[in-house]
Amino acid sequence: MAEGLLVVVSGPSGCGKGTICRKFLQRNEDMNISISATTRSPRRGEKDGVNYFFLTEDVFKKMVSKNEFLEYANVHGNFYGTPKKYVLDKIKKGENIFLEIDIQGALQIKKIYPNGVFVFILPPSMEELKNRIIRRGTESKSDIDRRYKNAFKEIEYINEYDYAIVNDKVEKAVKKLESIVTAEKSKVDRQIELINKILL
Ligand code: 5GP
Repeated sequence: MAEGLLVVVSGPSGCGKGTICRKFLQRNEDMNISISATTRSPRRGEKDGVNYFFLTEDVFKKMVSKNEFLEYANVHGNFYGTPKKYVLDKIKKGENIFLEIDIQGALQIKKIYPNGVFVFILPPSMEELKNRIIRRGTESKSDIDRRYKNAFKEIEYINEYDYAIVNDKVEKAVKKLESIVTAEKSKVDRQIELINKILL
C-alpha cells in the first residue's frame, strides 16, 4: 500500500502559522494532526490532549529514553516532541499526517523521512513579526525578545525546506498551502496504485 503524505510546516513564532494551519486543517479533513508533547505550561484556554499533551520534564525525559519520539527539541526553553507511534502507524496505513513543528524538529524528520513535504511560513517583514508576537500578548517581555532573536536564526535554515509561503494575507497563505499539498498528492509516484487500477 502507498504511504500517506507527511506534511511538515514550520516558521518563526508570530509568523501566523498557527492560524494558517488551523484553517487548512478545518478544510482538509484527510489530514491527521499529530498532537505533540510539551513541557511548557498550558496557556489560557489550552487543553491537555487537544492542543498538546502537557507533561512534566521527568515524564518527557522518560519518553525520550524509551525512544517514543520521532523527533524532539528544546524550543524557546521548553521541550516539544512528536509521538513516534501515532505518526508512523498512520503513514504506513496510507493516511496523511500534518506536523506543525519547529525547525530543529523538521530537520530531524527530514533526515529520517526525506519523502515528507517541508513548508516554511515567513512573515511579510521582521518588524511585522515582532508586532505580531507583542499583539498576541501571551509572552513575557523576555520571551518576546527570545522568540524574536530566534526567528533570525530559524530563517537561516529556509533552504532546507521545499516551499516558502509569505503570510501577508491569511486566506492567500492557506490557499498556497492547499496548492502545495494538492500538487504533492498528484505526483506520479504517489499515485501508482490508482494509475495501475486505471490500467486494469
Ligand atoms: P508554542 O509554545 O507557541 O505552542 O510553540 C512553540 C514552537 O514549538 C512552535 O514553533 C511550534 O511549531 C513548535 N512545536 C510544537 N510542537 C512541536 C514538536 O512536537 N516538535 C518540535 N520540534 N517543535 C514543536
